[in-house]
Amino acid sequence: MPKSRGPQIIHIQPEAPAKPAVGQPCNGCGLCCLAEPCPVGVVLSRRRHGACVALRWLPMERRYSCGVMRWQGQSTVTRLLERPLRAWMARMIAAGQGCDATLEAEVPKAAEEP
Ligand code: SF4
Ligand code: SF4
Repeated sequence: MPKSRGPQIIHIQPEAPAKPAVGQPCNGCGLCCLAEPCPVGVVLSRRRHGACVALRWLPMERRYSCGVMRWQGQSTVTRLLERPLRAWMARMIAAGQGCDATLEAEVPKAAEEP
């Protein structure tokens, strides 16, 4: 869960869903992963702050998703790793436990509809 460090500017898809309340099911708003990578994301992104490089925008579903959870092996051997990797990642990010991000998003005045 991203820690509070004061205001932070993130670039988010305008069609992304609004963040639900803490404890509600994750809707893929992407806010948490755009603000700060999880421990796995820190390793992949090689940074502790800002957007995770593994985050993916799914235009057809209009939501974000973790690229690690969607990773697909390219060979017979790596395909065997897909399920255990997803299961491990789901445990790492407590997938299915509800939103645990206490972040609040605010749209800058200039970006609001006239
Ligand atoms: S955990 Fe919460 S903030 Fe993160 S993508 Fe899901 S709903 Fe959005
Ligand atoms: S690794 Fe996945 S869950 Fe973790 S911050 Fe990156 S996109 Fe989000």
